[in-house]
Amino acid sequence: MQKIIAANWKMYKTRQEARETAAAVAAALNEQPTPHEVVVFAPFTAIAEVADAFAASQAQAGAQDVWPAVEGAFTGEISPRMLQDAGAVWVLTGHSERRHVLGESDELVGRKTAFALEQGLKVMLCIGEKLEERESGQLEDVLRRQLDSGLPAGGGALEGRFAVAYEPVWAIGTGKVAGPDEVLATHAVVRRLLCERLGETGNRIPILYGGSVKPANAGKLIGLDNVDGLLIGGASLDAQSFVQIIRA
Ligand code: PEP
Repeated sequence: MQKIIAANWKMYKTRQEARETAAAVAAALNEQPTPHEVVVFAPFTAIAEVADAFAASQAQAGAQDVWPAVEGAFTGEISPRMLQDAGAVWVLTGHSERRHVLGESDELVGRKTAFALEQGLKVMLCIGEKLEERESGQLEDVLRRQLDSGLPAGGGALEGRFAVAYEPVWAIGTGKVAGPDEVLATHAVVRRLLCERLGETGNRIPILYGGSVKPANAGKLIGLDNVDGLLIGGASLDAQSFVQIIRA
């Protein structure tokens, strides 16, 4: 399975900053292509800049959120068509900051995921437990609930256009990366849950790891079983650091 290395720029970068960073990533990839799929989830205002900078490279632009409607009276929201018009190929759904800082429910994440796929975007669904959930033995229940509500019906059509990012909430932006044993064990659980739900297709859905990935730990993480890619926040804001992770 082709691995996916994805950047989540969160609420960082003006259009010019985004253009400069994306151009530097594109130049590095053109000089030395990678076998991995490379995606940058940019803030809405910078998607078009990133898509333009990536036009002659193997990398693709994505959005960090989407609203599940074609158009309408949804002040402040953005539709799949608007994202595609800006050049987005991918969209993130259910990022932990949207779930836990902005109060997004499992049900809404599920609607966003299904609608974005239906409208032709590729979707990366983020799941992950809080520290207290892991410590109280609820890890599998939480992942099962987030996958059950996040996965659209009719799994057959998901191949090649859907990925899961496992991101333990306690490891995002904290510098606390999950240890290789924890990542290995949890990705095996996610794989089993995907196969329970999707049958054989579950083996072909990429599972990315996210949470304080840096150039120094990326090589070890990407080599683990069932780790089909990495989702990187902080360390993706700098082009050089992101490219180092791509090459790790
Ligand atoms: C993220 O935003 O998805 C993330 C994993 O952030 P960080 O790499 O900064 O922990």
